[in-house]
Amino acid sequence: MTTARALRVPTTGGPSVLRVDTVEVPDPGEGQARVRVAACGVNFIDVYQREGLYPVPTPFTTGNEGAGVVEAVGPGVGVAPGDRVAWAMQPGSAAESALVAGRLLVPVPEGVELDVAAAAMLQGMTAHYLVTSTYAVQPGDAVLVHAAAGGVGQWLVQWCAAKGATVIATAGSADKLATAQSLGARHVIDYTQVPDLAAAVREATAGAGVHVAYDGVGRSTFEASLAALRPRGVLALFGAASGPVPPFDLQRLNAAGSLFVTRPSLAHYILDREELLWRSGEVFAALAAGTVRLQVAGRYPLEEAQAAYRALEGRASTGKLLLLP
Ligand code: NDP
Repeated sequence: MTTARALRVPTTGGPSVLRVDTVEVPDPGEGQARVRVAACGVNFIDVYQREGLYPVPTPFTTGNEGAGVVEAVGPGVGVAPGDRVAWAMQPGSAAESALVAGRLLVPVPEGVELDVAAAAMLQGMTAHYLVTSTYAVQPGDAVLVHAAAGGVGQWLVQWCAAKGATVIATAGSADKLATAQSLGARHVIDYTQVPDLAAAVREATAGAGVHVAYDGVGRSTFEASLAALRPRGVLALFGAASGPVPPFDLQRLNAAGSLFVTRPSLAHYILDREELLWRSGEVFAALAAGTVRLQVAGRYPLEEAQAAYRALEGRASTGKLLLLP
Protein backbone atom coordinates (compact mmCIF):
# COMPACT_ATOMS: atom_id res chain seq x y z
CA MET A 1 0.00 0.00 0.00
CA THR A 2 1.15 3.52 -0.79
CA THR A 3 -0.47 6.93 -0.99
CA ALA A 4 -0.56 9.18 -4.04
CA ARG A 5 -2.00 12.48 -5.19
CA ALA A 6 -4.71 11.76 -7.71
CA LEU A 7 -7.09 13.73 -9.93
CA ARG A 8 -10.53 12.88 -8.56
CA VAL A 9 -14.05 13.17 -9.90
CA PRO A 10 -16.24 13.44 -6.75
CA THR A 11 -19.44 13.87 -8.75
CA THR A 12 -20.35 14.06 -12.44
CA GLY A 13 -20.04 17.44 -14.12
CA GLY A 14 -17.79 19.84 -16.01
CA PRO A 15 -14.07 20.48 -15.45
CA SER A 16 -14.83 22.44 -12.26
CA VAL A 17 -15.66 19.23 -10.34
CA LEU A 18 -12.05 18.00 -10.66
CA ARG A 19 -10.10 17.88 -7.37
CA VAL A 20 -6.60 16.78 -6.39
CA ASP A 21 -6.76 14.47 -3.37
CA THR A 22 -4.47 12.00 -1.68
CA VAL A 23 -5.67 8.43 -2.15
CA GLU A 24 -4.48 5.01 -1.04
CA VAL A 25 -3.07 2.86 -3.83
CA PRO A 26 -3.16 -0.83 -2.88
CA ASP A 27 -0.37 -3.27 -3.60
CA PRO A 28 -0.76 -4.78 -7.07
CA GLY A 29 -2.85 -7.94 -7.22
CA GLU A 30 -2.81 -10.82 -9.72
CA GLY A 31 -2.03 -9.50 -13.21
CA GLN A 32 -1.42 -5.91 -12.03
CA ALA A 33 1.52 -3.55 -11.76
CA ARG A 34 1.82 -0.37 -9.72
CA VAL A 35 3.43 2.36 -11.80
CA ARG A 36 4.93 5.72 -10.80
CA VAL A 37 3.22 7.88 -13.42
CA ALA A 38 5.47 10.33 -15.29
CA ALA A 39 2.75 11.67 -17.59
CA CYS A 40 -0.93 11.06 -18.21
CA GLY A 41 -2.75 11.91 -21.45
CA VAL A 42 -5.77 14.20 -21.53
CA ASN A 43 -8.49 12.52 -23.61
CA PHE A 44 -12.16 12.87 -24.46
CA ILE A 45 -12.93 9.52 -22.84
CA ASP A 46 -12.08 11.26 -19.52
CA VAL A 47 -14.69 13.89 -20.38
CA TYR A 48 -17.38 11.34 -21.32
CA GLN A 49 -16.75 9.47 -18.03
CA ARG A 50 -16.70 12.65 -15.92
CA GLU A 51 -19.91 13.95 -17.50
CA GLY A 52 -21.67 10.61 -17.18
CA LEU A 53 -22.07 9.89 -20.91
CA TYR A 54 -20.02 6.75 -20.15
CA PRO A 55 -21.35 5.90 -16.65
CA VAL A 56 -18.72 5.36 -13.92
CA PRO A 57 -19.68 5.23 -10.22
CA THR A 58 -18.39 8.34 -8.38
CA PRO A 59 -16.05 9.18 -6.76
CA PHE A 60 -13.28 7.95 -9.06
CA THR A 61 -9.79 8.86 -10.24
CA THR A 62 -9.86 10.06 -13.84
CA GLY A 63 -7.31 9.53 -16.65
CA ASN A 64 -7.08 6.56 -19.01
CA GLU A 65 -3.58 6.76 -20.48
CA GLY A 66 -0.06 7.19 -19.21
CA ALA A 67 3.57 6.20 -19.02
CA GLY A 68 5.93 5.71 -16.13
CA VAL A 69 8.23 3.36 -14.25
CA VAL A 70 7.03 0.11 -12.65
CA GLU A 71 7.25 0.28 -8.82
CA ALA A 72 5.79 -3.08 -7.82
CA VAL A 73 4.20 -6.10 -9.51
CA GLY A 74 1.64 -8.72 -8.59
CA PRO A 75 1.79 -12.38 -9.63
CA GLY A 76 1.61 -13.18 -13.36
CA VAL A 77 2.78 -9.85 -14.78
CA GLY A 78 5.34 -9.72 -17.58
CA VAL A 79 7.11 -6.57 -16.33
CA ALA A 80 9.53 -5.92 -13.46
CA PRO A 81 10.20 -3.00 -11.09
CA GLY A 82 12.22 -0.35 -12.92
CA ASP A 83 10.75 -1.11 -16.38
CA ARG A 84 9.61 1.89 -18.45
CA VAL A 85 6.04 1.22 -19.58
CA ALA A 86 3.10 2.93 -21.29
CA TRP A 87 -0.60 2.11 -21.55
CA ALA A 88 -4.02 3.22 -22.74
CA MET A 89 -7.59 2.44 -21.62
CA GLN A 90 -6.72 2.07 -17.92
CA PRO A 91 -9.14 4.06 -15.75
CA GLY A 92 -7.49 5.84 -12.80
CA SER A 93 -4.31 6.83 -14.62
CA ALA A 94 -4.20 10.49 -13.52
CA ALA A 95 -2.29 10.01 -10.27
CA GLU A 96 1.29 9.97 -9.01
CA SER A 97 0.99 6.22 -8.67
CA ALA A 98 -1.55 3.98 -10.42
CA LEU A 99 -2.51 0.32 -10.64
CA VAL A 100 -2.41 -0.81 -14.27
CA ALA A 101 -3.51 -4.14 -15.74
CA GLY A 102 -0.39 -5.94 -16.94
CA ARG A 103 -2.13 -6.95 -20.18
CA LEU A 104 -2.32 -3.22 -21.12
CA LEU A 105 1.37 -2.45 -20.51
CA VAL A 106 3.79 -2.06 -23.39
CA PRO A 107 7.51 -1.40 -23.08
CA VAL A 108 8.62 2.13 -23.97
CA PRO A 109 11.42 1.84 -26.54
CA GLU A 110 14.82 3.20 -25.60
CA GLY A 111 15.24 6.80 -26.70
CA VAL A 112 11.53 7.58 -26.35
CA GLU A 113 10.82 9.95 -23.44
CA LEU A 114 8.05 8.86 -21.09
CA ASP A 115 5.98 11.99 -21.76
CA VAL A 116 6.09 11.29 -25.51
CA ALA A 117 5.03 7.69 -24.89
CA ALA A 118 2.11 8.86 -22.73
CA ALA A 119 1.10 11.33 -25.43
CA ALA A 120 1.22 8.75 -28.22
CA MET A 121 -0.57 5.70 -26.87
CA LEU A 122 -4.30 6.37 -26.95
CA GLN A 123 -4.59 8.75 -29.88
CA GLY A 124 -1.81 7.02 -31.87
CA MET A 125 -3.32 3.54 -31.55
CA THR A 126 -6.75 4.97 -32.33
CA ALA A 127 -5.51 6.49 -35.56
CA HIS A 128 -3.69 3.24 -36.31
CA TYR A 129 -6.77 1.03 -36.07
CA LEU A 130 -8.85 3.57 -38.01
CA VAL A 131 -6.47 3.69 -41.01
CA THR A 132 -5.40 0.02 -41.01
CA SER A 133 -8.38 -1.97 -39.75
CA THR A 134 -11.65 -0.02 -39.69
CA TYR A 135 -10.91 1.08 -43.24
CA ALA A 136 -7.53 0.17 -44.79
CA VAL A 137 -6.47 3.41 -46.49
CA GLN A 138 -5.01 2.89 -49.98
CA PRO A 139 -2.83 5.14 -52.16
CA GLY A 140 -5.09 7.46 -54.14
CA ASP A 141 -8.02 7.25 -51.72
CA ALA A 142 -9.88 10.44 -50.85
CA VAL A 143 -10.09 10.67 -47.07
CA LEU A 144 -12.05 13.13 -44.93
CA VAL A 145 -10.61 13.96 -41.48
CA HIS A 146 -12.62 16.18 -39.14
CA ALA A 147 -11.01 18.17 -36.28
CA ALA A 148 -7.78 17.61 -38.17
CA ALA A 149 -5.59 19.74 -35.88
CA GLY A 150 -6.71 17.83 -32.77
CA GLY A 151 -4.97 14.95 -31.07
CA VAL A 152 -6.33 12.03 -33.12
CA GLY A 153 -6.78 14.32 -36.13
CA GLN A 154 -3.09 15.11 -36.46
CA TRP A 155 -2.21 11.40 -36.43
CA LEU A 156 -4.90 10.65 -39.04
CA VAL A 157 -3.82 13.41 -41.42
CA GLN A 158 -0.17 12.39 -41.31
CA TRP A 159 -0.76 8.64 -41.57
CA CYS A 160 -3.26 8.95 -44.42
CA ALA A 161 -0.96 11.33 -46.33
CA ALA A 162 1.97 8.95 -45.79
CA LYS A 163 -0.15 6.14 -47.26
CA GLY A 164 -0.63 8.19 -50.41
CA ALA A 165 -4.22 9.27 -49.77
CA THR A 166 -5.59 12.69 -50.61
CA VAL A 167 -6.58 14.20 -47.28
CA ILE A 168 -9.45 16.66 -46.99
CA ALA A 169 -9.22 18.19 -43.53
CA THR A 170 -11.71 20.23 -41.53
CA ALA A 171 -11.06 22.40 -38.49
CA GLY A 172 -12.55 25.39 -36.71
CA SER A 173 -9.98 28.16 -37.20
CA ALA A 174 -7.42 29.47 -39.69
CA ASP A 175 -4.54 28.45 -37.40
CA LYS A 176 -5.86 24.91 -37.11
CA LEU A 177 -6.32 24.67 -40.90
CA ALA A 178 -2.71 25.83 -41.37
CA THR A 179 -1.60 23.11 -38.95
CA ALA A 180 -3.52 20.46 -40.88
CA GLN A 181 -2.04 21.67 -44.15
CA SER A 182 1.50 21.61 -42.74
CA LEU A 183 0.93 17.96 -41.75
CA GLY A 184 -0.05 16.91 -45.28
CA ALA A 185 -3.72 17.77 -45.87
CA ARG A 186 -4.30 18.61 -49.55
CA HIS A 187 -7.59 20.47 -49.01
CA VAL A 188 -8.66 22.31 -45.86
CA ILE A 189 -12.15 23.49 -44.94
CA ASP A 190 -13.27 25.63 -42.00
CA TYR A 191 -16.44 23.75 -41.07
CA THR A 192 -17.64 26.64 -38.92
CA GLN A 193 -17.75 28.91 -41.98
CA VAL A 194 -18.96 26.90 -45.00
CA PRO A 195 -22.73 26.89 -45.62
CA ASP A 196 -22.71 23.32 -47.05
CA LEU A 197 -19.89 21.18 -45.67
CA ALA A 198 -20.69 18.06 -47.73
CA ALA A 199 -20.71 20.12 -50.94
CA ALA A 200 -17.32 21.64 -50.04
CA VAL A 201 -15.87 18.16 -49.47
CA ARG A 202 -17.39 16.85 -52.73
CA GLU A 203 -15.94 19.80 -54.60
CA ALA A 204 -12.46 18.80 -53.36
CA THR A 205 -13.02 15.35 -54.91
CA ALA A 206 -14.32 16.70 -58.23
CA GLY A 207 -17.80 15.54 -57.24
CA ALA A 208 -16.91 11.89 -56.57
CA GLY A 209 -17.05 11.92 -52.77
CA VAL A 210 -14.64 10.38 -50.28
CA HIS A 211 -13.80 6.71 -49.71
CA VAL A 212 -13.82 7.16 -45.95
CA ALA A 213 -14.84 9.84 -43.47
CA TYR A 214 -13.11 9.81 -40.07
CA ASP A 215 -15.55 11.63 -37.80
CA GLY A 216 -14.75 12.14 -34.11
CA VAL A 217 -16.87 15.32 -33.92
CA GLY A 218 -20.24 13.58 -34.08
CA ARG A 219 -23.47 15.50 -33.86
CA SER A 220 -22.44 18.61 -35.81
CA THR A 221 -20.62 16.78 -38.67
CA PHE A 222 -22.36 13.40 -39.02
CA GLU A 223 -24.85 14.41 -41.71
CA ALA A 224 -22.15 16.08 -43.81
CA SER A 225 -19.84 13.08 -43.39
CA LEU A 226 -22.57 10.80 -44.70
CA ALA A 227 -23.40 13.08 -47.61
CA ALA A 228 -19.72 13.39 -48.58
CA LEU A 229 -19.21 9.62 -49.13
CA ARG A 230 -18.98 7.98 -52.53
CA PRO A 231 -21.04 4.79 -53.14
CA ARG A 232 -19.94 2.04 -50.72
CA GLY A 233 -17.98 4.62 -48.72
CA VAL A 234 -17.25 4.13 -45.01
CA LEU A 235 -18.17 6.50 -42.20
CA ALA A 236 -16.07 5.78 -39.11
CA LEU A 237 -17.88 7.65 -36.35
CA PHE A 238 -15.27 7.34 -33.61
CA GLY A 239 -16.32 10.06 -31.19
CA ALA A 240 -18.74 12.74 -30.14
CA ALA A 241 -16.73 15.89 -29.36
CA SER A 242 -19.78 18.00 -30.35
CA GLY A 243 -22.30 15.60 -28.80
CA PRO A 244 -23.81 12.20 -29.66
CA VAL A 245 -25.49 11.54 -33.01
CA PRO A 246 -29.28 11.10 -32.74
CA PRO A 247 -31.00 7.83 -33.76
CA PHE A 248 -30.70 7.04 -37.42
CA ASP A 249 -32.79 5.16 -40.02
CA LEU A 250 -30.57 2.45 -41.53
CA GLN A 251 -32.54 2.53 -44.79
CA ARG A 252 -30.81 5.85 -45.51
CA LEU A 253 -27.54 3.95 -46.03
CA ASN A 254 -29.10 2.10 -48.96
CA ALA A 255 -30.55 5.19 -50.59
CA ALA A 256 -27.27 7.10 -50.29
CA GLY A 257 -25.20 4.41 -52.04
CA SER A 258 -24.87 1.20 -49.99
CA LEU A 259 -22.85 3.05 -47.37
CA PHE A 260 -21.14 1.64 -44.28
CA VAL A 261 -21.33 3.28 -40.85
CA THR A 262 -19.36 1.97 -37.89
CA ARG A 263 -18.96 3.24 -34.31
CA PRO A 264 -15.59 1.80 -33.26
CA SER A 265 -13.67 1.90 -29.96
CA LEU A 266 -9.98 1.38 -29.28
CA ALA A 267 -10.78 -1.27 -26.65
CA HIS A 268 -12.13 -3.57 -29.38
CA TYR A 269 -9.04 -3.10 -31.56
CA ILE A 270 -6.52 -4.11 -28.85
CA LEU A 271 -8.26 -7.35 -27.93
CA ASP A 272 -5.15 -9.39 -27.20
CA ARG A 273 -1.44 -8.88 -26.50
CA GLU A 274 -0.47 -9.53 -30.10
CA GLU A 275 -2.76 -6.81 -31.41
CA LEU A 276 -1.75 -4.33 -28.69
CA LEU A 277 1.97 -4.87 -29.30
CA TRP A 278 1.48 -4.58 -33.08
CA ARG A 279 -0.40 -1.28 -32.86
CA SER A 280 1.79 0.30 -30.18
CA GLY A 281 4.89 -0.91 -32.04
CA GLU A 282 3.71 0.79 -35.24
CA VAL A 283 2.91 3.97 -33.29
CA PHE A 284 6.45 4.15 -31.88
CA ALA A 285 7.92 3.18 -35.27
CA ALA A 286 6.01 6.01 -37.00
CA LEU A 287 7.41 8.51 -34.49
CA ALA A 288 10.95 7.15 -34.85
CA ALA A 289 10.75 7.27 -38.66
CA GLY A 290 9.28 10.77 -38.64
CA THR A 291 6.18 9.57 -40.51
CA VAL A 292 4.20 11.20 -37.74
CA ARG A 293 5.26 14.26 -35.75
CA LEU A 294 3.68 14.50 -32.33
CA GLN A 295 2.71 17.95 -31.07
CA VAL A 296 2.53 18.13 -27.27
CA ALA A 297 0.80 21.48 -27.03
CA GLY A 298 0.39 21.70 -23.27
CA ARG A 299 1.78 20.18 -20.05
CA TYR A 300 -0.16 20.73 -16.82
CA PRO A 301 0.46 19.78 -13.18
CA LEU A 302 -2.48 17.92 -11.61
CA GLU A 303 -3.48 21.14 -9.80
CA GLU A 304 -4.07 22.81 -13.19
CA ALA A 305 -5.99 19.93 -14.74
CA GLN A 306 -9.19 21.96 -14.92
CA ALA A 307 -7.47 24.31 -17.37
CA ALA A 308 -6.30 21.39 -19.51
CA TYR A 309 -9.81 19.97 -19.82
CA ARG A 310 -11.32 23.41 -20.42
CA ALA A 311 -8.91 23.82 -23.34
CA LEU A 312 -9.79 20.38 -24.79
CA GLU A 313 -13.54 20.74 -24.35
CA GLY A 314 -13.57 24.41 -25.38
CA ARG A 315 -11.90 23.77 -28.77
CA ALA A 316 -8.88 25.79 -27.66
CA SER A 317 -6.33 22.97 -28.02
CA THR A 318 -4.32 21.59 -30.91
CA GLY A 319 -2.36 18.35 -30.74
CA LYS A 320 -1.92 16.61 -27.39
CA LEU A 321 -2.33 17.79 -23.80
CA LEU A 322 -0.58 16.06 -20.90
CA LEU A 323 -0.93 16.02 -17.12
CA LEU A 324 2.35 15.68 -15.23
CA PRO A 325 1.62 14.12 -11.82
P1 NDP B 1 -9.24 16.77 -30.11
O1 NDP B 1 -7.89 17.22 -29.78
O2 NDP B 1 -9.57 16.40 -31.52
O3 NDP B 1 -10.26 17.86 -29.61
C1 NDP B 1 -11.59 17.86 -30.09
C2 NDP B 1 -11.75 18.79 -31.28
O4 NDP B 1 -13.02 18.56 -31.83
C3 NDP B 1 -11.71 20.24 -30.92
O5 NDP B 1 -10.41 20.78 -30.81
C4 NDP B 1 -12.51 20.86 -32.04
O6 NDP B 1 -11.65 21.15 -33.13
C5 NDP B 1 -13.45 19.73 -32.47
N1 NDP B 1 -14.82 20.07 -32.10
C6 NDP B 1 -15.81 20.31 -32.97
N2 NDP B 1 -16.93 20.64 -32.34
C7 NDP B 1 -16.66 20.61 -31.03
C8 NDP B 1 -17.43 20.87 -29.86
N3 NDP B 1 -18.71 21.24 -29.92
N4 NDP B 1 -16.82 20.76 -28.66
C9 NDP B 1 -15.54 20.39 -28.55
N5 NDP B 1 -14.76 20.13 -29.64
C10 NDP B 1 -15.32 20.24 -30.86
O7 NDP B 1 -9.64 15.55 -29.15
P2 NDP B 1 -9.09 14.06 -29.20
O8 NDP B 1 -8.09 13.89 -30.26
O9 NDP B 1 -8.74 13.68 -27.82
O10 NDP B 1 -10.39 13.24 -29.60
C11 NDP B 1 -11.05 13.47 -30.83
C12 NDP B 1 -12.23 12.56 -30.93
O11 NDP B 1 -11.76 11.23 -30.99
C13 NDP B 1 -13.17 12.63 -29.73
O12 NDP B 1 -14.48 12.55 -30.18
C14 NDP B 1 -12.83 11.37 -28.97
O13 NDP B 1 -13.90 10.89 -28.22
C15 NDP B 1 -12.49 10.44 -30.09
N6 NDP B 1 -11.70 9.28 -29.70
C16 NDP B 1 -12.23 8.06 -29.97
C17 NDP B 1 -11.54 6.93 -29.69
C18 NDP B 1 -12.12 5.62 -30.10
O14 NDP B 1 -11.46 4.59 -30.06
N7 NDP B 1 -13.37 5.59 -30.51
C19 NDP B 1 -10.24 6.96 -29.01
C20 NDP B 1 -9.72 8.31 -28.86
C21 NDP B 1 -10.46 9.43 -29.17
P3 NDP B 1 -12.00 22.45 -34.06
O15 NDP B 1 -11.80 23.64 -33.19
O16 NDP B 1 -11.06 22.33 -35.17
O17 NDP B 1 -13.44 22.27 -34.46
